[in-house]
Amino acid sequence: KLGNETIKAELGRAAWRLFHTTFARFPDKPTAEESSALQSYIYLFQRLYPCGECANHFRQILDQFPPQVSSRSAAAAWGCHVHNEVNKSLKKPLFDCSNIGDFYDCGCAEDPNEKVE
Ligand code: FAD
Repeated sequence: KLGNETIKAELGRAAWRLFHTTFARFPDKPTAEESSALQSYIYLFQRLYPCGECANHFRQILDQFPPQVSSRSAAAAWGCHVHNEVNKSLKKPLFDCSNIGDFYDCGCAEDPNEKVE
């Protein structure tokens, strides 16, 4: 267990950024294999998350709200929802999930596979 609250918060911010940015970059129309990869990634993220208390807590949230991996927008909305579940339990303000589409940008627009939207 990480004892230091500052480290736990830093880790949380970094993890959430990676988590939401991954969903923001997930395909709009994923193949079955891509959806399956994202689902495994989410469950492994939970299992290996390096704060035991957080991981246990997140496990319960995943049991209640199974990962939505059918499309980019479904994954992004789901990620926003489960982050809000954590926010609720920590008594933090809730994020407006209707803004999630614009909020996470990895700066990858130079990627040749990127479609301009
Ligand atoms: P964070 O919650 O880290 O959010 C970072 C930024 O993301 C915010 O400033 C905001 O711009 C944006 N944001 C906020 N809400 C959303 C949303 N719903 N969707 C998209 N973007 C959003 N800490 C504990 O003390 N106990 C726990 O049990 C615990 N469990 C955690 C479980 C997981 C899986 C993760 C990743 C983190 C967990 N944390 C836990 C850490 C905690 O969630 C925060 O990361 C940490 O407290 C720092 O909070 P923060 O206020 O800086 O904002």
